[in-house]
Amino acid sequence: MTTSQLHIALLAFPFGSHAAPLLTLVQKITPFLPSNTIFSFFNTSNSNTSIFSKTPNQENIKIYNIWDGVKQGNDTPIGREAIELFIHSTPTNFEKSMKEAEEETGVKFSCIISDAFLSFSSEFANKMNIPWIAFWTAGSCSLSIHLYTDLIRSNDETLLKIQGFSSTLKMSDMPPEVIAESLKGPMPSLLYNMALNLHKADAVVLNSFEELDPIINKDLKSKLQKVLNIGPLVILSSNNVFLDANSDESGCIQWLDNQKERSVVYLSFGTVTTLPPNEIIAIAEVLEDRKMPFIWSLRDNGVKILPKGFLERTKEYGKIISWAPQLEILAHRSVGVFVTHCGWNSILEGISYGVPMICRPFFGDQKLNSRMVESVWEIGLQIEGGNFTKSGTISALGTFFNEEKGKVLRKNVEGLKGKALEAVKLDNGSSIENFKALVELVKCHKLT
Ligand code: UDP
Repeated sequence: MTTSQLHIALLAFPFGSHAAPLLTLVQKITPFLPSNTIFSFFNTSNSNTSIFSKTPNQENIKIYNIWDGVKQGNDTPIGREAIELFIHSTPTNFEKSMKEAEEETGVKFSCIISDAFLSFSSEFANKMNIPWIAFWTAGSCSLSIHLYTDLIRSNDETLLKIQGFSSTLKMSDMPPEVIAESLKGPMPSLLYNMALNLHKADAVVLNSFEELDPIINKDLKSKLQKVLNIGPLVILSSNNVFLDANSDESGCIQWLDNQKERSVVYLSFGTVTTLPPNEIIAIAEVLEDRKMPFIWSLRDNGVKILPKGFLERTKEYGKIISWAPQLEILAHRSVGVFVTHCGWNSILEGISYGVPMICRPFFGDQKLNSRMVESVWEIGLQIEGGNFTKSGTISALGTFFNEEKGKVLRKNVEGLKGKALEAVKLDNGSSIENFKALVELVKCHKLT
């Protein structure tokens, strides 16, 4: 078996928006590695189908479908059950496929890049004597919180004091897994193990930029071997493959072209979350009462909940689509505010295109991200009471369309956009420098 060729194992966490950014990372790094580099991408079949159907086929990526933990003949589980079955099937499902990949290609792995959640990769890499690079697909704020799990769990006050966070950080902002009653459940233990093992990674790569959270990053650097913020990945290269002006199947961009500058409300709650029916109705009633121009990414199960006749009555000034070209929309001058569930990709995309946010977080790191948006970066606000009511929605939208405060929040997010653009500047941007360090690390394999 040869060891002279680079063979990179990519281990994906197949839920939410985890696997897609890992694939983006592969696409970004490929041009800087020898042309015969092999990438083996390990992910469940469902997640592979979903992410590879949205991207052009890259010949040097070998796709492996690993077992998702569902026994043959059983119904496909959804949500938490699917995640737990998958976690139970690790790490042997990855190990088995990785062996097959080495046999099939005849090339030993030279490096493992895994989702940071999959910290058992540390042992794989150790056994193979190759580097382990952990990819944290969220922000440095949530990564830091995980590293403080023990401290947080021993805190008995409502407020929390952690470097780099605002003094309004609350226990209730914490990811539920960090404050779970027991750390033995599948997801809490996966994340706790990550927190315990991350210092073993040769590098922790983040889809963010250092200047967004300088104090937190300094603290992370004191705890981990190498912290490489290489984002925002969406604007990392000047020819942005994500912004495809020619494909506007939904007609959203053409529609936006005809709207007034900063007048449109864009609503999207990511790939997993569905809003409760009463909240869908509250939003719909406000948009219709106020005749606010909007684009709403809403799947069919949500569309069914809309008030009768809503689509017909609002068609002059609103658009509902099941999958929105989010980047193109956020980049458009007509968008005034982004109503979001605060998934990390959405937050970073809002920042990258300078759009202030109204936050309605649900789970995971979303409450923390929402706290950062409102109290640290001051680029948006959390919805009153934590969920959409008519009055809360009117008040939140009013801030952006009628009040001075809205202008300040927009100015702040535009400031952060400027810093994000600086970070990816080709000559000496911090994310570019970190990206170069990542390329070097991937190139220098520790094979004996
Ligand atoms: N997204 C999109 N169109 C939609 C909804 C979502 O392109 O209609 C993309 C969005 O741009 C982001 C991702 O899906 O990159 C959602 O990721 P995020 O981390 O925000 O949330 P998650 O899906 O993990 O909850």
